[in-house]
Amino acid sequence: MDRQQEFVLRTIEERDVRFVRLWFTDVVGALKSVALAPAEVEGVFSEGLGFDGSSIEGLSRVFESDMLLKPDPSSFQILPWRGEDEPTSRMFCDILTPDQEPAAADPRSVLRRQLDTAAEMGFTCYTHPEIEFYLLDSDEVDADGYPVPVDRAGYFDHVTGSVSQDFRRHVVSMLEAVGISVEFSHHEAGPGQNEIDLRYADALTTADNIMTFRTVIKEVAVMQGKYATFMPKPFAEHPGSGMHTHFGLFEGDTNAFFAPNAEFNLSTIARQFIAGVLTHAPEFTAVTNQFVNSYKRLWGGGEAPSHVSWGHNNRSALMRVPLYKPTKGGSARVEFRGIDSSANPYLAYAVVLGAGLKGIQEEYQLAEAITEDVWSLTTPERKALGIKPLPGTLHDAIRQMEDSELVAEILGEQVFENFLRNKQQEWDEYRINVSPFEINRYLGMI
Ligand code: GLN
Ligand code: MG
Ligand code: MG
Ligand code: MG
Repeated sequence: MDRQQEFVLRTIEERDVRFVRLWFTDVVGALKSVALAPAEVEGVFSEGLGFDGSSIEGLSRVFESDMLLKPDPSSFQILPWRGEDEPTSRMFCDILTPDQEPAAADPRSVLRRQLDTAAEMGFTCYTHPEIEFYLLDSDEVDADGYPVPVDRAGYFDHVTGSVSQDFRRHVVSMLEAVGISVEFSHHEAGPGQNEIDLRYADALTTADNIMTFRTVIKEVAVMQGKYATFMPKPFAEHPGSGMHTHFGLFEGDTNAFFAPNAEFNLSTIARQFIAGVLTHAPEFTAVTNQFVNSYKRLWGGGEAPSHVSWGHNNRSALMRVPLYKPTKGGSARVEFRGIDSSANPYLAYAVVLGAGLKGIQEEYQLAEAITEDVWSLTTPERKALGIKPLPGTLHDAIRQMEDSELVAEILGEQVFENFLRNKQQEWDEYRINVSPFEINRYLGMI
């Protein structure tokens, strides 16, 4: 028993914790949870908890279904929304095979593998997510079939007595109670759309924090009689919900992306990282944008990227280098704007980081930054500048991912295949669906 495990057992006793939930994530990023009686925790620390992996999307095949959950004691938290009486707590888990090896298909271990590669190269990876979502009156649609947002406000609007503001305040204190610091929160551009930005943390902690964040948002919404959705694009006429993430690599305490006299203060390592991400972005978009609906966001408007480019302070770019803040000293980071709020954060961060590390290992050259608004260029103009499109549909994204050796290597054979199978199935269902658009357009026309 290590000291963190002892701390967990002591806290359970002192706080009279009634349930200990074990959390893990399936291949599409759905949170899974099993509740333990406190008396079981010590045994589970040493032996793990057995479960049927074949019943979890993308985890294991029926003939090798036995899996073990191994709780990560450093992630132990009391869940504040369950109340102070007989409190409920949770720990994130790693998934192991019966012989105690990391399960190849555990999204957490996929990200850990990339972080290990980064560590071998001398880097730690820090991430800062900006998470957008819509707050709705309920999960029901109106008579015309549209979701109903809680307000009609827009970007940074301060709305007196607004539901969103009250909601954000509640969420922020709830998050702080589970050890997640929030940097900014504000109303976003769409009606009922909000954004909450979490403080920098190492990439694995950030991914865990995102899973907790989604749960907190959903819980608080329900407590206030509302409904929150991370669906990438709930309204055709309003912006989608992105999960822009700032990435930074550090060598010890030194920011490896920072070079004082270079263009935008970007070091060679930062330039190679950006080049790696841009080169491989079309291959990994199926992971960062995993649903049919994700591609309704990436069409070339609503400040969401549609093409592969980078720029300094250019919001049409897939990768943006934020304004340099001289007061902060040697700071540099890059914002990847592709990921949407529905992505599996472990897999999404693994592919972005893996592509960036590939760029560093192979010393990729970075093209010129784009200063134009990519959306206002014509196709020939974009061609002349070497700006490629991101996949336009889930189908297109699947095809590009299938051919990617890098994505197969990053995800591992099993996740790669499971993920593609899951997505192909989704596409096939979508493809044969006849939508209201088609009925309206064609029924009376021909
Ligand atoms: N909602 C936009 C997106 O989908 C981002 C808007 C913004 O944060 N400037 O990426
Ligand atoms: Mg933002
Ligand atoms: Mg935003
Ligand atoms: Mg941003």
